[in-house]
Amino acid sequence: MTIQTIINNALKRLKAEGKLLTPDFYAEAFCKEAVRAKMNVEDCNHVEKFKNMLSKDFQKDLKNYRIKTMSEFVRFLISKLNRTNSTQCSDTLEAQTHFCKRVLQVITVLHNKEASELAQNSIDLLENAPTPQQLDAFRQRWVNFITTYDDTFLQKLKALGDVESSDLRKTVENLHTLTAGETSVSSEVDLQKVSRLLVASFVPSIASSVNDTIANLSEKIRKNPLILDNDNIETEIKTAISLRISLDKESVKEMVESIDGVLDKLSLRLIAMIESSDSSTVEIQAIKKELESYTEESTVNFKIAHKKLFTIAVALEENTQLLSKDLKGHSADVEALSNKVKKLEEELKEVKKESKEDFLTKLYNKRALDEFMELKEAEYQRYDRNFAVVMFDLDHFKDVNDTFGHEAGDAVLSAFAKILKKEARSVDIVGRFGGEEFLALLSDTDTKGGVTFATKVLKHVEKSRFMYKGNRIKVTASAGVSERAKHIALKATINSADEYLYIAKKNGRNRVEYKK
Ligand code: GH3
Ligand code: MG
Ligand code: MG
Repeated sequence: MTIQTIINNALKRLKAEGKLLTPDFYAEAFCKEAVRAKMNVEDCNHVEKFKNMLSKDFQKDLKNYRIKTMSEFVRFLISKLNRTNSTQCSDTLEAQTHFCKRVLQVITVLHNKEASELAQNSIDLLENAPTPQQLDAFRQRWVNFITTYDDTFLQKLKALGDVESSDLRKTVENLHTLTAGETSVSSEVDLQKVSRLLVASFVPSIASSVNDTIANLSEKIRKNPLILDNDNIETEIKTAISLRISLDKESVKEMVESIDGVLDKLSLRLIAMIESSDSSTVEIQAIKKELESYTEESTVNFKIAHKKLFTIAVALEENTQLLSKDLKGHSADVEALSNKVKKLEEELKEVKKESKEDFLTKLYNKRALDEFMELKEAEYQRYDRNFAVVMFDLDHFKDVNDTFGHEAGDAVLSAFAKILKKEARSVDIVGRFGGEEFLALLSDTDTKGGVTFATKVLKHVEKSRFMYKGNRIKVTASAGVSERAKHIALKATINSADEYLYIAKKNGRNRVEYKK
């Protein structure tokens, strides 16, 4: 059969099927006739040829459409091309890159040096149009990181008890509340705890003056507890402790000397009385009066000593008759009395140690504040009674000492204490926490109330005129506030007030800061 016959048959077919002589209908009819005539015509195989060049998915899709002609095939391709929108692709890619960068930024602030460095390098890479090879190399680095990540340090923490490895922050907070004990991990938290105890142990409890060496070392340790890890600090601590002991000894000596005076008078009177006559009641009365007058001059700490001496005087009065005879010529008894007094002196030392009053400002001292804090904590545990902690620290106080002298510094501390006392309510507890740091405990008060109180105090301080020997001293203070209900433990509450006090300093001083 010739091509001409196929053409004629195709035209006949079109006529028979009632189709117009369009190029498409003609091509279709021609190819059908060519197949019928078993003639392989190149032009009729285009569709089949191109079909085979498509991807497997497209070929499968194509079957559903039963495509026969070239124009149908082209239409199919156009519809496919329209469906894959190129701008949509690049938008998605850009959004993914952004997303990756944000995730990487988050990793940079997490607490793993290796991961955060790798994250930073990855961000740099993404910003410099990486090639697929570069991206793959980094993907491999991340794989290496996760396969070699060593978390055995968590096992060490686990030995300490309450450890949640998925939340290290919570774990560190819990460490605050752990009772002291077999801690094997020397962390900053532990050092902070130890540093506070150390500093408290330097401060003389009997002596009325703080030595500069002690104050400076305390400040140094308080500011950076990590220096405790340094061997050189050992000698400084030893010096501070022996200084503290010698200051306290000095004070005890002075007190004992003044008691000695009282006793000298007492024994002289007793002897004179005994020597003069047996009618001693009036004389004894006089001694009692004398002892009473000593109490008025002395501080509270002499009260117990006085009470005991007074009891001796009363006992002496009752036994005058008997004693007067025995005492005559028996100075040994006077010696016994003096021994008794020595014992009293020892007791007096103990009494002084239990003092709750700060020698300089007359506010509560650190020991008393610690006890009150325990009390507030117990109330919180039992009755859910919230309380606020306000920590104050005078600004640039070292300059006051350096410019006007220590005595002026002491005067400023006393004046500040008066302001604090004045602004506080009678139920509030205010005390000197150490050096130029003060603390207020406010019952049934939240952070907001604490901030109001602290602001009032700072305003009052700022507008006050601190005068010393004709000099006006400019004084301001900073404060940090926290409330018990916002923290897991008392310790954490105090640490937060301290932390925000530090932030107040950093943010320019003469201001109040707290967790917002
Ligand atoms: P900042 O604003 O950062 O708190 O500065 P600052 O100078 O107040 O702080 P710094 O810790 O450097 O100095 C505190 C000073 O307070 C040093 C110490 O000699 C002094 N100080 C501590 N206790 C007493 C005290 O009882 N009397 C006197 N006069 N000074 C004291
Ligand atoms: Mg300070
Ligand atoms: Mg200060």
